Amino acid sequence: MKHMLEKPLPEKLTGQLKKWMAAIAAATMMLPGTMAVPAAENTQSNLPQEELTVHFIDVGQGLAIMAKAGDDVLVYDGGNSDAASYFVSYLKDEGVEDIDYMIASHYDADHLNGLVGALHAFDTETIIAPDYKHNSKLYTSFYNTLSSQNKEVTYPEVGQEYEFGEGSFTVLGPTQIRDDSNNNSVVVRLDYGDTSFLFTGDAESKEEKDIIAANEDLYCDVLSVGHHGSASSTSWDFLEAVLPEYAVISCGVNNSYGHPDPDTIEKLESIEAQIFRTDLQGNIIAISDGETITWNNVPSNGEVLYAADFVSVKEEPNDTSSTVGELGPGNQIQVLNRDDNGWATIVFNGATTYIPSSYLSDIDPQTMTQAAPTQPVGNMVWLSATGSKYHSRNNCGNMNPANARQVTESDAVSQGYEKCKKCW
Ligand SMILES: [Zn+2]
Ligand SMILES: [Zn+2]
Repeated sequence: MKHMLEKPLPEKLTGQLKKWMAAIAAATMMLPGTMAVPAAENTQSNLPQEELTVHFIDVGQGLAIMAKAGDDVLVYDGGNSDAASYFVSYLKDEGVEDIDYMIASHYDADHLNGLVGALHAFDTETIIAPDYKHNSKLYTSFYNTLSSQNKEVTYPEVGQEYEFGEGSFTVLGPTQIRDDSNNNSVVVRLDYGDTSFLFTGDAESKEEKDIIAANEDLYCDVLSVGHHGSASSTSWDFLEAVLPEYAVISCGVNNSYGHPDPDTIEKLESIEAQIFRTDLQGNIIAISDGETITWNNVPSNGEVLYAADFVSVKEEPNDTSSTVGELGPGNQIQVLNRDDNGWATIVFNGATTYIPSSYLSDIDPQTMTQAAPTQPVGNMVWLSATGSKYHSRNNCGNMNPANARQVTESDAVSQGYEKCKKCW
């Protein structure tokens, strides 16, 4: 059964309405014959001057997010030990010199390891992490590193807002400390102009419930899907409260946990969220100008195209890679990504594979040389000049064939005619 949305959408609709009204006002103020003059720089606009970029870094099974707005850098989790050095070098490649905000969602290794690496590599200003103890060497190492740098952790206060570039982020959770690590995740909402991102760490349905209870407005454009898309997170109530347009899932290729859970994907698709996945698509980058969000990838559930011709499907994006199969003209292809190197990442037999982008077509090449298919006409029936029935033949005995005419059965029904009992 499809779950229905029970909640109204006041905030988003109001925002959209305002935009339309502004557009109408602008259009009606333009009098006929008036010279169009380029609009002066709108000093009233609260849109940011600079862009926000949010990187969902592919750290395999784990989570690592880096956001940059102007000179401000926020890091939310850093992935596990096998990805820690990649995480640090990714930040360096992106020009990060110091970190303004480091948020450790919780102390599980697949989130915390890379942050310890980052503490060694970058000067870090504000460190936010949840107020519970975790029995692990990694937890000890995190706090030892901080004390060796004379730094302290700021525990998250629900409702606390931090300036970030020309935007801000607000702590939404945890509202209480529980005895399971995941449900202590620091949940933050990043607002930038009219766009918003929600980072939920590994928060599961228990914490999601707390957050719904504590926060009036949870609408967000982008949801970093909780706990790598596992079934224990992304409860219906939470999803309906957030109603994301985009969902990003960070997890490892063919991970042993089965993340993301097919149910989570189905839920996200039923609210028509565009889904991005690090396991299928690598690093996912969102850019917000304060009004719209653009992405470095097409959504993983997004584009279905056609093969333009016969083409070999490759295991890796190069000609010398081994061939895993063949596509023919008109075959439908689920395209995950069109890379800069001329190769497209596609799904073939359920696996991530590659073909040259030049073999992709928006239209089925087989229909290009044929005439458009004729419209199906439906079942034709007979109507007599008078009478309230329609007939399968014009000589059924219950109708006068003189002046009889043919219409489709659905037309006859819609005009109020009923089936003749004799000829059907
Ligand atoms: Zn995790
Ligand atoms: Zn966890």
